[in-house]
Amino acid sequence: MTEAGPQPGPWAAGPAVPVRLASAPPGWTAHADVIVVGSGIAGLTAALRLRQKVDRVLLVTKTVLDSGSTRWAQGGIAAALDPEDSPAEHLADTLAAGGGLCDEDAVHALVVEGPRRVRDLVDLGTNFDRTAVGELALTREGGHHRDRVAHAGGDATGAEISRALIAALEAVRHDPGIEVLEHALVLDVLTADDPGDPGDPDAAGGPVACGVTLHVIGEGSRDGVGAAVGRAVVLATGGIGQVFASTTNPREATGDGVAAALRAGAAVADLEFVQFHPTVLWLGQAARGQQPLISEAVRGEGALLLDVEGARFMPEVHELAELAPRDVVAKAIVRRMAATGADHVFLDARHLGRDFLRRRFPTIVAALAAHGYDPAEDLVPVAPAQHYHSGGVLVDRRGRASLPGLYAAGEVSCTGVHGANRLASNSLLEGIVFASRIAADLSGRLAAGDLPQREPVLRTGRDALLPAPARSAVQQAATAGPGVIRTAAGLERAAARLARLPDDAHRRPDVAGAPGTAEWETTNLHLVATVLTRVAALREETRGGHYREDFPDTADAWRGRLVSRVDADGRLATTFLPLTREVDPAPLV
Ligand SMILES: Cc1cc2nc3c(=O)[nH]c(=O)nc-3n(C[C@H](O)[C@H](O)[C@H](O)COP(=O)(O)OP(=O)(O)OC[C@H]3O[C@@H](n4cnc5c(N)ncnc54)[C@H](O)[C@@H]3O)c2cc1C
Repeated sequence: MTEAGPQPGPWAAGPAVPVRLASAPPGWTAHADVIVVGSGIAGLTAALRLRQKVDRVLLVTKTVLDSGSTRWAQGGIAAALDPEDSPAEHLADTLAAGGGLCDEDAVHALVVEGPRRVRDLVDLGTNFDRTAVGELALTREGGHHRDRVAHAGGDATGAEISRALIAALEAVRHDPGIEVLEHALVLDVLTADDPGDPGDPDAAGGPVACGVTLHVIGEGSRDGVGAAVGRAVVLATGGIGQVFASTTNPREATGDGVAAALRAGAAVADLEFVQFHPTVLWLGQAARGQQPLISEAVRGEGALLLDVEGARFMPEVHELAELAPRDVVAKAIVRRMAATGADHVFLDARHLGRDFLRRRFPTIVAALAAHGYDPAEDLVPVAPAQHYHSGGVLVDRRGRASLPGLYAAGEVSCTGVHGANRLASNSLLEGIVFASRIAADLSGRLAAGDLPQREPVLRTGRDALLPAPARSAVQQAATAGPGVIRTAAGLERAAARLARLPDDAHRRPDVAGAPGTAEWETTNLHLVATVLTRVAALREETRGGHYREDFPDTADAWRGRLVSRVDADGRLATTFLPLTREVDPAPLV
């Protein structure tokens, strides 16, 4: 293991990529030991733990504290808490879901430390649902062979976890050791040049992360574009859902962390592994952005899928019918939609009865009611939508990215625990386990005098800004290219369209906007979509969340990660890292 984490091998150069977002120069500077970006389960956990061990923590978040996917999580958080269960079994289920691409050591950390981290949440005041005798109520979800999913408020687990973490933060918010900046959009990771130590082969020198630039819509001295400098940066910016035309992710999920890490020179991996949820409320062709998820638990309770002609179609596709794995159901729905010329199918839960539906799925019933549907009476139109991103900023087991001083936790990161496909309810767990690991690693390093504060230098290379109206074109290209069903021709068309977008936009001065949140987010979406399309085209096989119609089989030769980064010449470079480690859950028993 090197000082900075994984350092991939030879790189194949691709298209030129910007090295920073276009913005005004920073008008103010804030200082901290560690800057944590994002306030979902990963960012809040990192900030709360770090503040106990380092002098100054700055937590910045794009909108308000409970923004991000965490508060939308429904099903729960998985951990081997039942006396009958074991980390070894949780590990085996996680590896099986991951399609041969999990990092076994990372999964080991997840399943062994998971139960303790869930108990930490209980100690913090999270009100998980309980059994009649007061034990944590554990349920089972797809891919788990044991009841190991703790939940809260029935289907409102994320909201309760978020509430408890924010309450803990509010209790210390006015301490001088922590500063919280809301409505603070991080633009770029700042870098400095580390001269290195010629006498130490482990200290080769080169770029290091030393802060962020950010845009704050606030009051007083922290307003407009500024810089926050620190000894380390923890990215906890969540997912990329808004890259696609429809997603279960909230509006903040614009891939900012992945894009900023890339522009700063850090490696990203597994970007092609996107999980599409099969049953998301279909709100019409013009609908964009976050759409209500209808959990597979509704199908688990007996709801059926019907095509627009009223015919059930899952029994002929898979022996588990509506309860087949998510990717199987999503593909079957897309095929059925094509066969019937429709842009949705129906979920039929009418036979479950109003009382049961209201009691078992209060959040879902309320979300449907907000759009005029009563699942006890109506067929509910559904279609697959982007749901989760397994890939992200490549980190090691300590959460260190390939750029020294940069860490990543939660959905923005690629720890390797999900491999090619995430096991249900493992993502909240990953966020809390690896954010805790980061806090432990970083506090030790800072106490030892590692990662001294350095002066940021302006990266040479071009900047970028796409106009806000280009967002829709990015989303259309991503949905048609690296969507549920992928082909070489579709990916090539998507890549060409994405490559033309910046030029097309600049030929239209009427749409080219001044720098602002919508423009910065659109530029990030474009970069993430570009890399995702490229790696999805490179991976000529089907595995986990990556389905190639033209390469329907899983190929042993592809058992490894596609890792991308922006090289010193500002070009996107991608390499393949084979995975060699064999799976052996025995030591955990
Ligand atoms: C509808 C839904 C249901 C789900 N159900 C489950 C479930 O049952 N179990 C499970 O384990 N997982 C579930 N997931 C996935 C899980 O919720 C997420 O993977 C997890 O919450 C991610 O946590 P995070 O801390 O990494 O990011 P998030 O919770 O997404 O938080 C990201 C934070 O970063 C901030 N941010 C983003 N960009 C910037 C920027 N440029 N500058 C500053 N701040 C920024 C955001 O505002 C936000 O505060 C679900 C997801 C969705 C959408």
